[in-house]
Amino acid sequence: MQLTEDDLTTIRQWLQSRLKGGLRCFVCGSTESSVLPSVAMTSMFDIRTGRIHYMDGYPLIGLQCTTCANVIWFSAITMGLWQPPVVVSADTPSSAAPAGTEPPASAQAPASTDAPAGAE
Ligand SMILES: [Zn+2]
Repeated sequence: MQLTEDDLTTIRQWLQSRLKGGLRCFVCGSTESSVLPSVAMTSMFDIRTGRIHYMDGYPLIGLQCTTCANVIWFSAITMGLWQPPVVVSADTPSSAAPAGTEPPASAQAPASTDAPAGAE
């Protein structure tokens, strides 16, 4: 997704409010950087099964050093650019569950669009 001018304004304001004194590249020491024009996305990895969940991850904003091309990443969610939808399903433990109610074992797995191994 290409960032809009409004997105770039939000990003610059967020960075200025948190990076007192600017940001110095930890590779080359330069203080010159630019925001990458698109949002990147991680893929989630399940360390128990070894499965990669391509449809689940964290949206990231890249800040690239204009001298050495080092890129550092910031959470687009924390920056306020996007909020993940709240998904409620029968398999998702809810804070609204009565006290003392244990969710079923299947509900303790992280939410994913991929089926768990052996679920077919
Ligand atoms: Zn650098």
